[in-house]
Amino acid sequence: MTPVYIRKAGYSDPGLREILFDMLDACAGAAVGRGARVLVKPNLLMPAKPEQGILTHPSVVRFTVEWVLEKGGRPLVADSPAIGAFEKILKQGGYTEALSGLNAPRRPFRESIHVDIGKPFHRIELARDAMETDAVINLAKLKSHTHMLMTLGVKNTFGCVVALKKPEWHLRSGVDRDLFARLLVQIHQAVAPSVTIIDGVLALQGQGPGKSGDPRHLGILIGSASAPATDATICHMLGFLPDRLPTHRAAEALGVVPTDIAVQGDPVCITGFDLPTLSRLTFGPKPLQGIVRKHLTQRPMIIAGRCVRCGECVSYCPADAVTIGDPTVVFDYDRCIRCYCCVEICPHGALHAADTRPGRILRRLSQVLSRR
Ligand code: SF4
Ligand code: SF4
Repeated sequence: MTPVYIRKAGYSDPGLREILFDMLDACAGAAVGRGARVLVKPNLLMPAKPEQGILTHPSVVRFTVEWVLEKGGRPLVADSPAIGAFEKILKQGGYTEALSGLNAPRRPFRESIHVDIGKPFHRIELARDAMETDAVINLAKLKSHTHMLMTLGVKNTFGCVVALKKPEWHLRSGVDRDLFARLLVQIHQAVAPSVTIIDGVLALQGQGPGKSGDPRHLGILIGSASAPATDATICHMLGFLPDRLPTHRAAEALGVVPTDIAVQGDPVCITGFDLPTLSRLTFGPKPLQGIVRKHLTQRPMIIAGRCVRCGECVSYCPADAVTIGDPTVVFDYDRCIRCYCCVEICPHGALHAADTRPGRILRRLSQVLSRR
């Protein structure tokens, strides 16, 4: 049996610590003993405040660190942010304050080691801190994601790919969303967390996972020894079949979704969670796919008045498809591989993935035809 624990919770609940301790005891109690090195891996995507719903909440991180210390373990809090200085993220996100007084070093991943994650990717560089440790505690955030529908437990371990190696892998998987999902699952299997806890107290919906998303209070924590199990359970809770989630399809194909999931705890049913529309990235005959992608696939676009030309998207874009223009950045949609990294990392929430006019017409037409 693979239990998935669901508990209603709030960040200021006096019971939050006990809820987390119960989940950690149940899922990772055997993996964390006296002297064990334990990586605590939250989602620290970018500098953001807790009320923006982008990062794993500092209270969740603090109580997890307290649990590791109580077990006699040696916690390290680390991640590889997409943008922004690690110290700034700790300060703005409330982690500096939350972790004060606790014997827990925190640092960004720096060194990588080569790991063979299997076909077709084989050798990939992953954070040494994630691979040379006794246990990993995966503290993910419940968020929508313009490219992968949602970022949950499995995707959170992509943060173990250090710094600019991340966009490089986006480029290498190109426009193949399913291939990228397979990469995420294989990385997750290599990191092999002992437990995954997903912070869905303040979730993010709409054009997540960055500042273009909308925070939404759901008031839940979900935990399990299996991230594919937490992710599938969350899909059901939000009212859609897990098959819609690219990482779930990949996990199924790789045979790593448990068949004996047993949901325990508070029953929760969430309606109206706003998910992004994922348009197909390639379709039509191969010679025409470039044209089809350019004209029919959703593209990153500026939300009027928000771009301050900070240049972060220009530096991060794996395809060199963005340049600084006037009055905003300019996209080269021929080069753009539609990874939506720019939407994810824009510190000003100035971008969204938008349908082109012909793409919108085609989508409506196919919806009408599929209803017949
Ligand atoms: S779109 Fe966002 S990241 Fe890019 S330059 Fe404008 S504000 Fe900066
Ligand atoms: S422009 Fe944005 S969506 Fe296109 S390749 Fe660059 S980062 Fe990805």
